[in-house]
Amino acid sequence: MKNFHVAVIGGGVIGSALAWELCHYKIDVVVFEASSDVAFGTSKANSGVIHSGINSPPSSLKARFCVEGNRMFQSLSNELGFPLKWIGKYVIAKNWDEIKELERLTNIGNQNKVNGLEIHEGFLVKKKEPRISCVAGLWVPTAGIIAPYECTIALAENAVENGVRFLLETKVEYLKKKSDHFAIGTNKGEFQADIVVNAAGLNCREIVSFIETPDFQVYPCRGEYLVLDKTYGSLVHSMVYPIPVKELGVLGVHITPTVDGNILLGPSAEFLDDFSDTGTTKDMMKLLLQEAREILPALPENATINAYSGIRCKLSCPKTGGWSDFRIEESQQHSGLIHLLGIESPGLTAAPAIAKEVTKMISSEMKLEKKISVKIRPVQRKRFSEMSMQEQSALIEKDERWGRMICRCEQVTEAEVINALLNPLRAQTFSSVKYRCRAGMGRCQGGFCTQHIVRIMEQQLQIDVSKLKLKSPTSHLFTGKVRKEKK
Ligand SMILES: Cc1cc2nc3c(=O)[nH]c(=O)nc-3n(C[C@H](O)[C@H](O)[C@H](O)COP(=O)(O)OP(=O)(O)OC[C@H]3O[C@@H](n4cnc5c(N)ncnc54)[C@H](O)[C@@H]3O)c2cc1C
Repeated sequence: MKNFHVAVIGGGVIGSALAWELCHYKIDVVVFEASSDVAFGTSKANSGVIHSGINSPPSSLKARFCVEGNRMFQSLSNELGFPLKWIGKYVIAKNWDEIKELERLTNIGNQNKVNGLEIHEGFLVKKKEPRISCVAGLWVPTAGIIAPYECTIALAENAVENGVRFLLETKVEYLKKKSDHFAIGTNKGEFQADIVVNAAGLNCREIVSFIETPDFQVYPCRGEYLVLDKTYGSLVHSMVYPIPVKELGVLGVHITPTVDGNILLGPSAEFLDDFSDTGTTKDMMKLLLQEAREILPALPENATINAYSGIRCKLSCPKTGGWSDFRIEESQQHSGLIHLLGIESPGLTAAPAIAKEVTKMISSEMKLEKKISVKIRPVQRKRFSEMSMQEQSALIEKDERWGRMICRCEQVTEAEVINALLNPLRAQTFSSVKYRCRAGMGRCQGGFCTQHIVRIMEQQLQIDVSKLKLKSPTSHLFTGKVRKEKK
C-alpha cells in the first residue's frame, strides 16, 4: 500500500492538467483512471474548441477559468507540442431579431475582458466565409481549436515523465477518511493519500457519495457529432456558431474545423438517464445535417465519414434552463478532499486554469516546493504526412519503418504506429494507437490499416492477438480463430 501526497481520481483533461501542474513540485502524485487510457471519457468527445469567454455570465467560475485557460493555451501548446490553431469564430444572426443576441454576447465578452470582439455586417462575413449567409456575425478572434485527446495525452505523458504515476484500468470503488489520510479502495487494491481530488467527470457525484451525502444531481446531456471527410475541409475557415440555445444552456449545432483538416457538425443536446450511452442515432444524424444546413446550405449529403457523441456533466436539469456554474470546492466535512463538480463546457478550455486553482488549494494544505526544472517529452511535432519530401527521405534513410505506409488515408507510417504504442503511460489498446498517431481516423475508418496495426501490436507487445483490446479492459478485438493454424 503506497502513500501518496495527492491522489487524483480521473484521467480526463482536468485530472491530466492537474497532474501536469503538480509534477512541477516535489510531491508524490497518483492518478487513478478506470479506463484503459487517458481522455477516454468526455475529454475525447467534444468540439475541441478553446473558447474565448463570451458565453458565461461575468463573475461566474466558468467565465473566469475560461478566460484564464484560453490565455494559457498558447504556451502549453508550445511547451508540450500539441497543435493549436487560433482560427477565430463567427456567431451569426440569421435574421434582424438575432442581432440583439450578438450585442448581448459582445457585452458579456467585454465584461469578461475578451479582446477583439466586432460585429460584422453580412457582406463582411461573406468575404471571410463565402458560403455562410447571415445578416450579421459577431467575430471572436480569440477562439481556437485543438485535438482534445492529443492535448490530454500530452499533459498526462509529460506528467509521467516527471514522476506522476498514472494507474490505468484502476477504478476507485470506495473512499474513507482515516485519522490523517484518505484510504482509496480500487479494483487493484487500497492506496493512501493525504489529499484527494475528485476529477471523475460524469462520475463526480458517485465519488462524493462514497464519503458524504451529495447535495446535487448530475443530469447527463448527450451531444452527437458528424465528422466530414477532409475533401470538404475548406467549406469554412473559421468556426461558425448559431445564437446559443438558452433553454438548454448549450451553444447549438455549430460548424467546427478540426486541427487535422476535417469539419465537425454538432453537437446535439439530449438529456438522458444513462451516463454511459455514448451511442449515435440515425435520427440525430439527419437532424444535425438539417440544422447545419441552415448555417451552411452548401453542405453535401454524403460527406460524413464518422459520428460520435460526448456527454455533458450538467448540474441543472432542462426544466431550470440547463445552466449552472462549475463547482470547485473543498469538502465541508473532510479537509483535504477537493471536489471538481459539473465541469461541462468550457471545461476543456478551463482545464489549465482549474489545475492552477486546485494547486493553490492544495498549497494551503501542504507545503509545495518547486522542482528546479521539469523534463519535456520530445515529440515529433510534424506528422510524416506534413513533412517535405526531403524531411521524409531523411527519416526513411535513418529507419526504413518511416517508409512503410500503414494508414493510407491519413498517411501514417509504421514508425509512427510504433512510437504511439511505446507511450510512457503504457496505454496499449487499439484506440490508444489511433488517438496518438491518427491511424484509422481517415476516410476508410480503419478498413485498410486495422490488420497492419494488429500485426504491429502483436510484434511490439509480444502477445497473442486474442489478448489485444480495442479500447477497454474487456473489449477484445478477436474472440477466437476461424480455422486451425497449419503445423
Ligand atoms: C458535446 C460536448 C462538447 C464540448 N465542447 C467543448 C469545447 O468545445 N470546449 C470546451 O472547452 N469544453 C467542451 N466540452 C466540455 C469538456 O469536454 C469537458 O468539460 C471536459 O472534457 C471534462 O473533463 P473531465 O476530465 O472533467 O472529464 P472526463 O474527460 O470525463 O474525465 C473523467 C475521467 O474520470 C474517470 N473516472 C470516473 N470515475 C472513476 C472512478 N471511480 N475511478 C477512476 N476513474 C474514474 C473516467 O473514466 C474519465 O476518464 C464539451 C463537452 C461535451 C459533452
